[in-house]
Amino acid sequence: MTVASLAQELGLWEEICENIHCFSGRKSRRLIDRLATLPIQRSRATRRLGSYVTRNGRPFCIRLQFAQEPENLKQTLLHEIAHACDHFSTRFAIRFRRAHGPSWQAWAKALGTSVKSCGRSEALDQLHRQRLKLVAVCQNCGAEFHRVRRLNQGRKYVHPSCGGPLRLL
Ligand SMILES: [Zn+2]
Ligand SMILES: [Zn+2]
Repeated sequence: MTVASLAQELGLWEEICENIHCFSGRKSRRLIDRLATLPIQRSRATRRLGSYVTRNGRPFCIRLQFAQEPENLKQTLLHEIAHACDHFSTRFAIRFRRAHGPSWQAWAKALGTSVKSCGRSEALDQLHRQRLKLVAVCQNCGAEFHRVRRLNQGRKYVHPSCGGPLRLL
């Protein structure tokens, strides 16, 4: 899967190309070509909607969590495309610009997506909650602790608010 194939599937590709063209004029052809073939990978993270990934300062892929709502998925894709475009149009590609700085924000606006740095997804929050396990109980007050990963069995933990020792499960 590539940015072009997913954006086509979501009905966004033409609009993306037009917006890039309006924003960066003559340079847009090359930019669109690079963006089109950028791979999309599925992410299993439940705390991140998506990310733009570079390796050694070069574009690598966009990771997306597909469990989010369709409208969210579109906005997340545009958000990450704004990172990719910001990166592609940086003259000094090795020194990546500040993630949500002015040049990223300009791209986000041009692509018609929010300039807030992170979106939220109720579907993803729910998936995250389902993944949480009961990992510890306070032996003093009985408070329960839920996390995705188990706590380190070799360590001793204390309940910060009552000082009681935690029993790890
Ligand atoms: Zn971002
Ligand atoms: Zn306690």
